[in-house]
Amino acid sequence: MKVGIMGGTFDPIHIGHLLAAEAARDSFGLDQVWFMPSHIPPHKEQAGASGEDRLGMVAEAISDHPCFRTLDIEIRRGGVSYTIDTVKEIRRSFEGIDFHFIIGADMVNYLPKWEGIEELVNLMTFIGVGRPGSTLDLDALPGYLQGKVHLADMPQVDISSTEIREKLATGHSIRYMVTDSVYDYIRRRGLYGIQPRRTD
Ligand code: ATP
Ligand code: MG
Repeated sequence: MKVGIMGGTFDPIHIGHLLAAEAARDSFGLDQVWFMPSHIPPHKEQAGASGEDRLGMVAEAISDHPCFRTLDIEIRRGGVSYTIDTVKEIRRSFEGIDFHFIIGADMVNYLPKWEGIEELVNLMTFIGVGRPGSTLDLDALPGYLQGKVHLADMPQVDISSTEIREKLATGHSIRYMVTDSVYDYIRRRGLYGIQPRRTD
């Protein structure tokens, strides 16, 4: 079985994440994609929404896709989420699965700085997707990453969770940047500083 891991903060999950996962699944014949929210990402400040809510939003966003699942391993483990620890743990728990880690162009460029990356590249392959604002130059990667990152084509989406949080904080619309189910979840729970309200 081939499984893609879509890691991220998902604060909140948006259509860029969904399209990246679907492009990777389609291009590489993945049987499933597991969306894995990090607890505290190594390279960022703490997330705006709780782990439970970020997982809840991911579950809402992917519920109608037969091949998409959530993976709460990093949220449950707590602390700073290093991918190397996670990958070792899932390889122990799910023997025989061929894992691929799906990342956007900004993360591809950041790969050399990942904790334990030289060991990680031997445990799984990476599927990279383009992202506006980040160039994707595989030749510029260090030698140990050559041949370890494969590319999937996706419609380019210039959306980030940061932009969505800013829009919510300033009273602007995020409709169609996230699924309706995620939009409802944010409003119902009153996330990112908005007034909670019923959506039915
Ligand atoms: P933030 O602005 O909070 O950093 P983000 O939109 O970058 O949020 P993350 O949760 O940081 O989302 O990203 C998770 C993964 O999804 C990363 O590998 C990132 O490169 C990728 N990704 C996020 N947005 C896009 C996008 N619009 N197109 C392609 N890949 C994306
Ligand atoms: Mg990001």
